[in-house]
Amino acid sequence: MKHNSENKLVRLKTCPYCKCEFVVIHELQIYCPEKYGKQNYCKYKQKQLIEENRLAQVASLYSISQSTDHRKQLSTLEHNILVLDKLLGYQNENTVSSLKLDELKFDIRTFSYRITDAEYPTIVLGPFKLSLLLINNLIFTFKISKNDFT
Ligand SMILES: [Zn+2]
Repeated sequence: MKHNSENKLVRLKTCPYCKCEFVVIHELQIYCPEKYGKQNYCKYKQKQLIEENRLAQVASLYSISQSTDHRKQLSTLEHNILVLDKLLGYQNENTVSSLKLDELKFDIRTFSYRITDAEYPTIVLGPFKLSLLLINNLIFTFKISKNDFT
């Protein structure tokens, strides 16, 4: 606890990203509200850091060399798996449009195998399943889920 100029009690927290102290306005604040003139800078940066660590973990899981530019060494299937992992995050399932998949350079022709008796047309890519839910104006909507090997 410190006192500000008006001699009121002010609560301070330490930002986990930049380690600076900031004045708490409401209890839910974790990061400093602004940094370098940008709102939520530390919150965003911390999220980005977590995401990068996660990708690095997945990359090492598939024993992809990180000694050189590993993006160039990724096979198409490995790239596809990384894309799905990123889109799924911590969720059990998520939907994605073909526009987004195109944007992330996902190659729908490259997968591990096809599930023929599924409710929707489904392909398996490593630990993930991709099911075609609907087609609307040539835009495909897919469901991403974890492959439970059943
Ligand atoms: Zn901060």
